Amino acid sequence: MREESVAQFAERARAWLADNMPRIDPDNPPFADRGAEASWQRARELQRRLYDGGFAGICFPREYGGLGLDIEYQKAFDAECVDYEMPLILNTPTFTICCATILDTASEEQKRQRISAALRGDEVLVQLLSEPSGGSDLAGVITRAERRDGKWVVNGAKTWSTGAFAADYGLLLARTNWDVPKHDGLTMFLVRIDSPGITLRRITQVNGSTEFCEEFFDNLELSDDDVVGEVDRGWDVASRQLYHERRAVGGGSEFASGTGSENAQDHPPDYVALARAIGCDSDRVRGAAGRALVHRAVRDQLIDHVYRGVLDGSLPASAGSLIRLFHAEAIELEVDTALEIAGTSGVVGELLSVGERYLSRQTAALGGGSTEMARNVIGERVLGFPREYAADRGVPFNQVKH
Ligand SMILES: Cc1cc2nc3c(=O)[nH]c(=O)nc-3n(C[C@H](O)[C@H](O)[C@H](O)COP(=O)(O)OP(=O)(O)OC[C@H]3O[C@@H](n4cnc5c(N)ncnc54)[C@H](O)[C@@H]3O)c2cc1C
Repeated sequence: MREESVAQFAERARAWLADNMPRIDPDNPPFADRGAEASWQRARELQRRLYDGGFAGICFPREYGGLGLDIEYQKAFDAECVDYEMPLILNTPTFTICCATILDTASEEQKRQRISAALRGDEVLVQLLSEPSGGSDLAGVITRAERRDGKWVVNGAKTWSTGAFAADYGLLLARTNWDVPKHDGLTMFLVRIDSPGITLRRITQVNGSTEFCEEFFDNLELSDDDVVGEVDRGWDVASRQLYHERRAVGGGSEFASGTGSENAQDHPPDYVALARAIGCDSDRVRGAAGRALVHRAVRDQLIDHVYRGVLDGSLPASAGSLIRLFHAEAIELEVDTALEIAGTSGVVGELLSVGERYLSRQTAALGGGSTEMARNVIGERVLGFPREYAADRGVPFNQVKH
């Protein structure tokens, strides 16, 4: 059978979307609140529609429930679906990070089960990486998985897991060997979030959001079938996961479906409306707004430049950190600029959302690894500066001072 061209695929998608997906009302765009159960149910429902219609997992292999098509088909679909409500909150981390990592590193059975279930809208996946003791030094995790009577018994805690309350499975990084240097004693597991032995709590942030969760593991029992990759080779899996995370955060993952904003907060502030609202249209306000808009324009160009550079080999894969760093800087500048224009009006009344948004301005500088860590990666792996001193390099983990 002759393969369908990208143009034919786009035409078929256009007709299917019109008949099957909810069209976005521009005056009342969908608001996907990651902290609300209803948003996740809605996303699962929409994902099921995509699956039933034959448009889920465009770049995932056919044997795992996808379409096995090239990124050009995904891009064509993205262009067609901008006016429709899409299950965007499933993109990251479920598809772009967790399923992508499972595809690269997991067993055949894990791939068949988890990727297919996620594509059907039956399962949501999360990352269980960061710990209360810190997230930057990921290889230093202290959640332990010990071998007892042919099982793995896990004790410890994870935190900042986005949307874990609504998830089915998590990729959990734990220490299985304390006698070797930190990177060599880790194992990645796939765990059911509702397993006995896991206590999940939701974290309320300063802006009221409850999307983050923390999990406590008390003698959680796992089997060998739950290991992803090899025992004590968990760093290989985690590295792959971080690679996919950098691509996802920078907007360069072929496993994301739909490119729209999850909610209004993703859009740049409307500086003109803000200036009008406070009745101030000075050169200072114009200058500040222009600076922020230019940063966004440069960020968008940088994404394309780095994506192509990594593809043609002129930039190393770690150059994804350039996008990650500049993205955070641009978002911070936007949030700061909006508050600068709004002034004290941004903490009361109609402009309160400006002040509320300011409360979470740091998220872009922490999610997917902090801005400082991105600078370290750029310094060491893109610019070739000497590596940062590490007291624990090559030292068995049980001899490292904490
Ligand atoms: C929006 C968002 C979503 C997230 N989602 C998840 C998730 O789903 N799953 C998950 O596991 N985690 C998640 N996280 C957690 C995130 O990965 C961590 O916040 C991040 O890795 C930083 O870890 P930390 O907060 O523990 O800070 P720490 O590691 O304690 O660092 C504290 C400060 O010290 C700086 N620092 C640390 N080491 C160095 C160094 N070597 N050089 C220079 N500066 C350094 C850091 O930059 C930071 O400013 C999320 C975070 C955010 C904000």
